[in-house]
Amino acid sequence: MDKDIEQILLTEEQIQNRIRELGEVLTAEYADKNPVIVGVLKGVVVFYADMVRRIKVPCQMDFMWLSSYSGANSTGKMLVRQDVTADIAGRHVLILEDIFDTGNSLEFTVNHLKEKNPASIKICTLLDKPERRRPGVTLQADYVGFTIPNAFVVGYGLDYNEKYRNLPYVGILKPEVYTK
Ligand code: 5GP
Ligand code: MG
Repeated sequence: MDKDIEQILLTEEQIQNRIRELGEVLTAEYADKNPVIVGVLKGVVVFYADMVRRIKVPCQMDFMWLSSYSGANSTGKMLVRQDVTADIAGRHVLILEDIFDTGNSLEFTVNHLKEKNPASIKICTLLDKPERRRPGVTLQADYVGFTIPNAFVVGYGLDYNEKYRNLPYVGILKPEVYTK
């Protein structure tokens, strides 16, 4: 897999250091709040596993799985493939995401969870690509691991055709990989 990577954008060490820093902030923020930490599958799994172990407060772990279909007439329409199982009414919810790109999936996730009347919702995303935001998206992440340029990245949970999720770093693919 490494041979398909053109450039390592974030090393394993950079990612782990940043997660440790975010962990201190989130530990302070969620002390005594017993948050429900919601991961958006599947891209978040690697970040989720590392991040949640640095948030040193009692918490509940839960997941949502979205599917989007971008057929000819329905670009970007999202569906809930798997909903959270916790009753989040009155609870403090922390959403963990792999990447904040156009914002479609986070906007959908936040609106979906808000209907369940949580006490609060905050967003922590490992990566933010602000240049790619769809015009009209006003949502902002409360906690960002790294702001990155407008490039397609893989690794650390992020895939290209379901491959590369288990790379321990975030990298940019060689252009020829797309044309294979
Ligand atoms: P959105 O465009 O809704 O903000 O992001 C939707 C999803 O697209 C992300 O959760 C992620 O799974 C995928 N995505 C967006 N940008 C990238 C990228 O650079 N690399 C990979 N592998 N997936 C991405
Ligand atoms: Mg995702």
